[in-house]
Amino acid sequence: MGNRKGRRPVAGFRGRARSSQRGRGGFEDNRTRQIQALREQARSVQLRLHDLNRRIRAVEHGVTPSNLKAFVNPDRCVACGTCEEMCPVCAIYIEEIARVDQKKCIGCGSCVAQCPRGAIVLTPLEGSS
Ligand code: SF4
Ligand code: SF4
Repeated sequence: MGNRKGRRPVAGFRGRARSSQRGRGGFEDNRTRQIQALREQARSVQLRLHDLNRRIRAVEHGVTPSNLKAFVNPDRCVACGTCEEMCPVCAIYIEEIARVDQKKCIGCGSCVAQCPRGAIVLTPLEGSS
């Protein structure tokens, strides 16, 4: 009799426990989604801040656009990332060596001036006058 009374709450508890575990799973899923969303927001703010700092540097350094484009000599580049940091328009990225997105490059020459290896030159884009 005492046992029977004892079993019922246990069964009820198990039922609640399963429900609670499901709820916990949902809570964890929600928490994970929230963390991911916040990390994405933080990344976005970070990128924006990075971009603003570059633009501040561009103004500070008084960079002037030209009709030239930057080209990297792959034999000289050591992928130090200095040019990537300096480029005010984020035209440079490192992929084994520095690479220049010619569509973004404004030919300001900041990267040329800062490269410790003399690996970048400014030249007219092929086909342009
Ligand atoms: S600064 Fe010069 S050496 Fe460094 S990544 Fe750029 S091109 Fe390469
Ligand atoms: S010249 Fe160099 S620093 Fe200037 S926009 Fe082009 S890649 Fe960037």
